[in-house]
Amino acid sequence: MRYRMILTAGALALALCYDSLAVNAVAAQKKRRPPAKTTAARASLNAKIRRFAPTVLTADVSRLSTGDRRALAKIIEAAKLMDPLYLKQVWSGNPALLARLQRDKSASGSARLHYFRLNVGPWSRLDGNEPFIEGVPGQKPHHANYYPDDMTKEEFNTWVQGLTEEEKARATGFFHLIRRDAASGKLRTVPYSTEYREFLEPAARILREAAGLTTNETLKSFLSKRADAFLSDDYYESDVAWMDLDAPIDVTIGPYETYEDELFNYKAAFEAYVTLRDEAESAKLAKFSGYLQDLEDNLPLEARYRNPKLGAASPIRVVNEVFSAGEGNRGVQTAAFNLPNDERVVKEKGSKRVMLKNVQEAKFKKTLIPISRVVLAPAERSVLSFESFFTHILAHELMHGLGPHNINAGGDGETTVRKQLKELSSAIEEAKADITGLWALQYLMDKGMVEKSMERSMYTTFLASCFRSVRFGITEAHGKGIAVQFNYLTDEGAIKYDESSGTFRIDESRIKQAVTKLTREILTLQAEGSYAKAKAMLDKYGVIRPPMQRALDRLSDVPVDIEPHFPLAQKR
Ligand code: ZN
Repeated sequence: MRYRMILTAGALALALCYDSLAVNAVAAQKKRRPPAKTTAARASLNAKIRRFAPTVLTADVSRLSTGDRRALAKIIEAAKLMDPLYLKQVWSGNPALLARLQRDKSASGSARLHYFRLNVGPWSRLDGNEPFIEGVPGQKPHHANYYPDDMTKEEFNTWVQGLTEEEKARATGFFHLIRRDAASGKLRTVPYSTEYREFLEPAARILREAAGLTTNETLKSFLSKRADAFLSDDYYESDVAWMDLDAPIDVTIGPYETYEDELFNYKAAFEAYVTLRDEAESAKLAKFSGYLQDLEDNLPLEARYRNPKLGAASPIRVVNEVFSAGEGNRGVQTAAFNLPNDERVVKEKGSKRVMLKNVQEAKFKKTLIPISRVVLAPAERSVLSFESFFTHILAHELMHGLGPHNINAGGDGETTVRKQLKELSSAIEEAKADITGLWALQYLMDKGMVEKSMERSMYTTFLASCFRSVRFGITEAHGKGIAVQFNYLTDEGAIKYDESSGTFRIDESRIKQAVTKLTREILTLQAEGSYAKAKAMLDKYGVIRPPMQRALDRLSDVPVDIEPHFPLAQKR
């Protein structure tokens, strides 16, 4: 699962809030544009492109061993092969269309090529997949290039019913395509290793070369097992090796997410994230993890609802991206992901969350800073800090593990918060992770475990980030959760609005108390499993009130996301 700062279909539960803005809600507000033919259309295409602020993404390689540095170059080389592979997965017409766009040297041609590359296809992902190139299907094919263009859902379902269990597993699995037999017209499965041999064979060879160069055993193991998987379609061992990966170079490469298969969500798209571990943040995370039980024991919540013994938290890695490819680099950029998706591995080894720190920092600089210039009182703007922003994100992630989960609601026996709060549970859980994150960091500051100097910037940065989160609507869990907090804190007098300038600020005399009060209220309704209280809270606070709407209306020129450039991946 991945978190892009937009809501992709399926990326729902426990979405990393900062990264699940419902950008696709924008689509509903946009009108269809005429075919990109005229100067006006070109201007509109350029306006679409400008929503992605160009950004350099890199990291310090100087601390890598010589072997690792050479391995890194190889890994990037292998990762690059995920681009043409994914291009082919998205749509059968993509490779030919790309070749045609590359031949067009006009100004409008280069704009089309640029935007095609950003979207990996001729449909604008930010605008509800409306086409921006003439002559392509008006609708992005839901079956992508995983199934025959002329196949219906019904035909597939009927065919699958007649298959053996083993064949059925392949037909509905991650790693086999569905094709039509030319002679008989019948459906059949084709393994990824066959269909994508031209990319996977060289990728496997290069990954093995990288495995021979790295000095880290866990990386060596992952790279060689993943190379095997590219040729065998059996990814189990290499997924297990990925869970055990603990190295300065952190690599994720292969077929993972199924979002591009909008027909069934069965087939996995290829992607790659080549990253370096962020040692300072990893140390910070380890430090925080040591405080979790202390935090749980002191939550503003009746003692009987607290968990006397927290279970082991699933691992979190903080890394900096030096290259991404395939589905990992299209449209809105991934800010964090949680893998693997194979349930056998998750059952056995759990899953791992990877946070792409420099991607989040780029988003902070290119979107949150400009937002703050519009929504914050002038004196507050200089207080904004990425350090506070990211620390709160880490706290948010850890706080998902605290508070009530398995509960005993109204003497009805064992149940879960999720079951009791039903469709409201995600928005409440996201609000909880945010507000409890603020509460926890304040607690640690008061105890001297976190720098007290962060206090002011933490609340103000959070205030600005509220606007980023609700910018594209509050239909999705995190946007809704943020609206709840923003309005609650406003009603408590902790957020002040200045009518004449249309800006907001934190009231430092009230914020701590208000945060604790809301934390208590949310944790308590979760502990009680009270659907009614959750509904009342979301109905009252989970809305956009006029002052916030007026501020949002002034954000139209602020970029939506970044377009990365990777110096380490450029030919030298
Ligand atoms: Zn979350």
